[in-house]
Amino acid sequence: MSRPSRVVVAGASAAGLSVAETLRREGFDGSITMIGDEDSAPYDRPPLSKEILSGKWPEQRVWLREESAIDALDLDLRLGVRATGADAAARNVELADGSTVPYDELVIATGVRPRRLPGTDDVPGVHVLRTLADARALRAELEAKPRLVIVGAGFLGAEVAAVARQVGADVTLVSDLQAPLSDVLGDDLGRLLVDTHREHGVEVITGVLVKEVLTSDGRVAGVRLADDRVIEADAVLVAIGSVPNTEWLGGSGIEVGDGVVCDEFCRAAPGVWAAGDVASWQHPTLGERLRIEHRTNAAEQGMAVARNILGEPKPFAPVPYIWSDQYDRKIQIYGLPRGADRFAVTDGGLADGRLVALYGRDEVVRAAVGINMVRPVRAARAHVASRTAWDAAVSQEGATA
Ligand SMILES: Cc1cc2nc3c(=O)[nH]c(=O)nc-3n(C[C@H](O)[C@H](O)[C@H](O)COP(=O)(O)OP(=O)(O)OC[C@H]3O[C@@H](n4cnc5c(N)ncnc54)[C@H](O)[C@@H]3O)c2cc1C
Repeated sequence: MSRPSRVVVAGASAAGLSVAETLRREGFDGSITMIGDEDSAPYDRPPLSKEILSGKWPEQRVWLREESAIDALDLDLRLGVRATGADAAARNVELADGSTVPYDELVIATGVRPRRLPGTDDVPGVHVLRTLADARALRAELEAKPRLVIVGAGFLGAEVAAVARQVGADVTLVSDLQAPLSDVLGDDLGRLLVDTHREHGVEVITGVLVKEVLTSDGRVAGVRLADDRVIEADAVLVAIGSVPNTEWLGGSGIEVGDGVVCDEFCRAAPGVWAAGDVASWQHPTLGERLRIEHRTNAAEQGMAVARNILGEPKPFAPVPYIWSDQYDRKIQIYGLPRGADRFAVTDGGLADGRLVALYGRDEVVRAAVGINMVRPVRAARAHVASRTAWDAAVSQEGATA
């Protein structure tokens, strides 16, 4: 296999940077063009809903690397410009500034953007949270301790609810699910987290859709729910999931579905790869097509793609990892709890809120979740990685609840 001399990376964030760094670390001395439509150097998103929103960190701490470390990668870095098209047959990428960049290998790492409530894009006081600019705008809003309605009670909505309570906002969390977070964590842990929010003074409204965003004098004034209840608000955060940034690939010859459709090597077409939130790939051992919107995966998949570009491709088979911080709880998830039909708490307990739980399906361990149990849950990860038989894992760990 001949080594490429020109790699183009579309997307200048966690996954794209990981590709570029790994290529250089592995000795690649060809050109790397990295294209990012945000003006800023690569920054980290997890702190946006935590330390940046709460004001605990100064903004400088979100940069993924010092300027000197970016310079040392010797990139052709094109920031503030969108990739607008690609041609997989001719092997080039078109940019919004009219230029065309040829490649031997293209990595698509353009991530996702927040899904919005229709018609609310330009309504003052309605927020989404994906970028540093979004975080600044929401933080400024929180300074006035507003009545904040959060639409969507996934991890993002739940984290913002926690921070907003801590800075004194009056928070209502609205979810269309009867049991928010239970779809991911199962009923017991979902309930534990929702109860935690209620204990901290969040009003949690479940099982109802938001029908309409209400305005007054050109600014958000509240939301109307599907059952016609009205909740007044000074600010609204819409946290109802995301949409992969793939529109620019229309007509490129690269298959797009829920993200960029890749094989188990993260390859989408000859000379085309994808990494991070935008990549949908066939997980070789879990036997499922996955698209993971989490930080550790972005870094690991970027590394895997870079190595596959340079050498004999290997299937990408990580143990998915997620963390979330809510109040004083650190939630860590190894594997895929969703869809499990077995659940056992193996350390700690639901009552004191510190625990490790195993999740199983098809008689094997599928996931391990820890709440404020950093080391024990890391140890339990081994069962997920090796797909330990359910009974053996539970009898080895010992069920506590
Ligand atoms: C507020 C927040 C909190 C989070 N907290 C956690 C957490 O606690 N734990 C966790 O595991 N994960 C968390 N995540 C998820 C994590 O940040 C993402 O998984 C990670 O950022 C994905 O990296 P990425 O490089 O794939 O995509 P992104 O970070 O989305 O980067 C893609 C980049 O490509 C750019 N782009 C898009 N289209 C184009 C185009 N056509 N041309 C050029 N550039 C383009 C985008 O503007 C963006 O800069 C959080 C995310 C957010 C937003």
